[in-house]
Amino acid sequence: MQRTLAILKPDCVRKNLIGKVIKRFEAEGFKIVAMKLVKLNSKTAGEFYAVHKERPFFYDLVSFMTSGPCVPIVLEKENAIEDYRKVIGATDPAEADKGTVRKMYADSKEQNICHGSDAPETAAFEIGYFFSGKELVENME
Ligand code: GDP
Repeated sequence: MQRTLAILKPDCVRKNLIGKVIKRFEAEGFKIVAMKLVKLNSKTAGEFYAVHKERPFFYDLVSFMTSGPCVPIVLEKENAIEDYRKVIGATDPAEADKGTVRKMYADSKEQNICHGSDAPETAAFEIGYFFSGKELVENME
């Protein structure tokens, strides 16, 4: 079993798509291990996206990610990281395959509904950024 960090971004929350997108993840076989509603600030959004801090879109990305609440979710499934990225589709909805979450719901390359970890090391960092071990359900028993 593998885990990945999904975030339903502020555009997803604003458009009242939380339920629809989570329903899709469940239908694709992902189990929810942890979930919460949070509002990032420029410090936390900047830390989370530190890998992009030299990119020209960094400031816009931080502004967008702090523009409203978002929903980090830990999802579990075999091959979760790669399979999740297939379900959400390419970063830019214009380039995403038909039927992917971003193709169906996203407005732009920036406001693209959801985040997903891109490798095991980033998944470990990103899950730990939002959740303590005690918040992951299997550790509660
Ligand atoms: P992801 O792994 O598919 O989310 O894509 P990246 O890791 O490359 O980028 C992180 C996030 O930054 C994306 O999901 C977008 O929200 C945003 N982003 C990426 N490229 C651009 C861009 O060219 N312009 C803007 N404004 N935002 C971008």
